[in-house]
Amino acid sequence: GAVIGILGGGQLGRMLSVAASRLGFICHIFEPGAEPPAGQVAHRVTTASYDDEAALRAFAEAVDVITYEFENIPTSALDLLEGLRPIRPGREALRVSQDRLVEKNFLADLGLQTAPFANVETRADLDAALATIGAPSILKTRRFGYDGKGQARIMQDADADDAFASMAGAPSVLEGFVNFSHEVSVIAARGLNGEISCYDPGENVHKDGILHTTTVPANLKSPQRMDAVLLAAKILNALEYVGVMGVELFVTPGGLIVNEIAPRVHNSGHWTQNGCVVDQFEQHIRAVVGWPLGDGQRHSDVEMLNLIGDDVDQVPEFAKEPNSAIHLYGKAEVKAGRKMGHLNRRTGPAN
Ligand code: ATP
Ligand code: MG
Ligand code: MG
Repeated sequence: GAVIGILGGGQLGRMLSVAASRLGFICHIFEPGAEPPAGQVAHRVTTASYDDEAALRAFAEAVDVITYEFENIPTSALDLLEGLRPIRPGREALRVSQDRLVEKNFLADLGLQTAPFANVETRADLDAALATIGAPSILKTRRFGYDGKGQARIMQDADADDAFASMAGAPSVLEGFVNFSHEVSVIAARGLNGEISCYDPGENVHKDGILHTTTVPANLKSPQRMDAVLLAAKILNALEYVGVMGVELFVTPGGLIVNEIAPRVHNSGHWTQNGCVVDQFEQHIRAVVGWPLGDGQRHSDVEMLNLIGDDVDQVPEFAKEPNSAIHLYGKAEVKAGRKMGHLNRRTGPAN
């Protein structure tokens, strides 16, 4: 079997490693942090910084294909790795998703709806952006934001100073506030041969900026469901994407608005582990090694509940539930806001 290199050793890398092992592949993790959750299940771990060229080279030479569980891989590391082994999904997906401004322009160029947006690098840029977009709006750092971090809400023009200061000089985008009825996401996969398979959209509820629950089926009418899947496919085709992607959408009376894309397996796709024959992790591994995509049809209705921080204390109670599957990430230290695991509750057969 092939050896799969995974950049990043968090829970996504861990669940990718489990799926890869089940298919007979060997996984090799590259992760700067000590004791990565994926290290407990992968076959080999390299603990080194992304500046360490010798370590990156040795990692690449020991694997057949490289994939990743997070999008913020330094460009210098990608340049080095790309010369040695295929990186899937490819560089274009990373270039687009590493910077919110590039991402928004890419989506708009595809003819998809986004929130109104403007680049903000100076305080004067912010005033100009507010003059056209107005409040309420959200200032978001262009790079490295996740779980709602690096965002400041501007409810009225007077909030602009604080919002600008909170970016500490980092380039950002101002986004008009979207008055959505709810949020959904599409987990979509594209194979090496260009075939596409999308999971049924899930409906997402966030708490304190972090995903709280994903419910399938989402509250969508069938034309909206069709729209969601078609727009996801359009994005994957445009990027000549190989692997699984998460596409976050706002549902509005004026149609679906794309919030952001994640070029990797996605927290809002964890329900597929217990709702589909082939889950998002196996699907991603199939894609990156060039296998045909598997059966991603939903066989069950599922509610996924994230276990954040202390929530994990309730696992003994959850374990008594008859229709639940528990997934824990093997993180020793419980911290507020830290993703410790998730619960997939099967709520019935797919209707
Ligand atoms: P993730 O962990 O999903 O990567 P993130 O830090 O990249 O999160 P976003 O997805 O941009 O952040 O925003 C987090 C949440 O904030 C969204 O899911 C949505 O609930 C809300 N939000 C973001 N942008 C807007 C907007 N323009 N209008 C209204 N709500 C928004
Ligand atoms: Mg994000
Ligand atoms: Mg998001």
